[in-house]
Amino acid sequence: MPTRMRLRSPRQPLFLFLGATLVLATGLGWLGWRLLQQDRDLEDQRIREHLESAAQLLAAELRQGLADIDTRLSRLAVLPQKQLVAATSEEASLLGDDTLLAVFVENGIRAFPAHRLAYQPGLRDAPRTGAPELAAGEAYEFRSKEYGKAIEAFRELSRSTDEQVRAGALLGLARNLRKSGRLEEALEVYEELSAIPDAIVGGLPAELAARHARCSVLEELGRSEELAEEAASLHADLCRGRWRLSRGAYLYHLEEARRWLTDAPASPTTGDEAQSADDRDDEDSRPRPSSYLGNQQGQEESLAFSVAVELLWNDWLRDRRNGDEFGGRRNVWHDDRPILLRWRGSGERVVVQALGVRFVEEELLATLQPVLARQRVRLALADLDGRTVLSQYGSEEVGGPVQAANDGRLPWVLSVVSADPTADLGELAARRRLLFASLGLVALVVMVSSYFASRAVGRELEIARMQSDFVAAVSHDFRTPLTSLRQYSELLASGRVADDERRHKYYGFLVQESQRLQRLVEGLLDFGRMEAGAKEFNLEPLPARPWLEEVTAEFQREVEENGYQVDVAWRGPDVTLPADRMAMSQALWNLMDNAVRYSPDSKTVWVEVKREARRLLIHVRDRGLGIEPDERRKIFEKFVRGSAARRRSTQGTGLGLTMVRHTVEAHGGTVRVESEPGEGSTFTISLPVEE
Ligand code: ADP
Repeated sequence: MPTRMRLRSPRQPLFLFLGATLVLATGLGWLGWRLLQQDRDLEDQRIREHLESAAQLLAAELRQGLADIDTRLSRLAVLPQKQLVAATSEEASLLGDDTLLAVFVENGIRAFPAHRLAYQPGLRDAPRTGAPELAAGEAYEFRSKEYGKAIEAFRELSRSTDEQVRAGALLGLARNLRKSGRLEEALEVYEELSAIPDAIVGGLPAELAARHARCSVLEELGRSEELAEEAASLHADLCRGRWRLSRGAYLYHLEEARRWLTDAPASPTTGDEAQSADDRDDEDSRPRPSSYLGNQQGQEESLAFSVAVELLWNDWLRDRRNGDEFGGRRNVWHDDRPILLRWRGSGERVVVQALGVRFVEEELLATLQPVLARQRVRLALADLDGRTVLSQYGSEEVGGPVQAANDGRLPWVLSVVSADPTADLGELAARRRLLFASLGLVALVVMVSSYFASRAVGRELEIARMQSDFVAAVSHDFRTPLTSLRQYSELLASGRVADDERRHKYYGFLVQESQRLQRLVEGLLDFGRMEAGAKEFNLEPLPARPWLEEVTAEFQREVEENGYQVDVAWRGPDVTLPADRMAMSQALWNLMDNAVRYSPDSKTVWVEVKREARRLLIHVRDRGLGIEPDERRKIFEKFVRGSAARRRSTQGTGLGLTMVRHTVEAHGGTVRVESEPGEGSTFTISLPVEE
């Protein structure tokens, strides 16, 4: 592409600038993004390190707490048998709620507190054989089915002073009353039986057997409200571990009590009870008697203790023959309830410590509270298989939990998360906002400065283009008269023009062309002076009408050979102008010259002069190309040429109107244009007149 063409497209550098800006902005954006990522990674690393050290600290504290409990266990394990029971019981009361101490010896388990075991692991059901005194009554009952006689026999024995015989008799009496359909009486007898302490009937504590039977009779009688009360209190006592029962007996009676409760009608409950009702596995959502609901948790806890102790008891029974040391620790689960077991002993006897999750939470973790608060973390404990023992946070915690390294001295895996992740990330967010703001600002500055720079470059290129057009136009303007001058002078010098008239005519051409050349040179010199601010105007009183007629006449002579004519209309009286005759003539000439050059199809130029107040208005009108609205102001600037002029390749320098404006303004006047593209233009010079 030729250089000239390239210079003609000022949009290209603009695109270049915008492209460069885009690249710069993209680069900045990328840098910012990388910076943010690095910052985030660093922040993550910092938070992680903090969590790791907090986890280690908490693990050490927890180990210390457990070590204290361990020491107590070891102390118990070496005590002589005689002191052991008393010491263990005392220790159990010190350890508090949700813990259990147990001593395994060959003939069974002693638990402290005893009621924390729902049932007695390792207990075999007592023999069902009754007292021999009862044989007569049983014979009537079972062999001959003579219930009346059986009732008589048992009633007799129920007055016995031997508690065991009395209990057996009362049981038989009540049973036979039931069989005879005398249920109300049977109820009373069971009531009596339940009041005999420590008696065993049918392998069960008499009280339990009697209360269970009462429920069953109440059910038969359809007395549901009483049944509910009775069953609830039975259930509560079972949960409290009131009786030493085997697993089978315990679960059977518990199940029965539950069944009666489930079948029982609704009874009013408190808000708390309604809430714990939600936790039950039971699909039946009817409110239950308070004692039943209140015991749910306790019952689950004591069941879990029993299951855990039973598991260890069975292990011990299996291994004790080896005579080895028997010690260790383990987490045992019953449903969702973990029990931490720790034991020390031998084949002879073992001391067992069982810690419930409530103890871990309320006793052990309470001591960690200051560290948790200081480090602003929350923790969770899981057993070594990864099953959660307790957790202070949800699984969806931000950043995920950080684990403390486990050296085997802790029975759990300890993990922590930040207690306030938003505060941890707050600093990062603030830094990020600042970075975004600065990046945005830099991008804005880059874009704005690129825009202005590209505009300036575009303008420079436009001026360069105009100057290059100007040089071409001036060269052309010079060449035309010079060529004519040369041709006519050569003709005359060769002596080949013999005819005087023709010679005279040629001399006339020579004068005309040299005047044209002079006007051109004068014009350029004037422009140079005006630009340099060195042009001086010699203002003298100038009678306007003769001056104007002379200039228009001279112009008429110049253009008539091309078929143009100037139509002058002077309205009103003559006036005198304070004016530089030469400069003002040149200005008027320029306007008329433009009117001719830009009117290819209309051959008349109208010059109309009139006075308006203290000003003389000179209108130069044509019916030529006209000027686009957005160009009407710009054409008075140097080198600027209209688009219509350039399209038609009309020669011109773009200096004429600049000089007109300069001259008119130097005379205290103004010049303006009205135009319609395709219709023509009217340039008006307004000059102050001399009074
Ligand atoms: P030049 O005529 O040498 O280009 P001027 O300064 O005299 O320079 O005029 C500037 C531009 O104004 C012209 O190029 C033309 O586009 C426009 N112009 C001036 N006079 C007229 C006119 N009478 N009719 C239409 N266009 C005009």
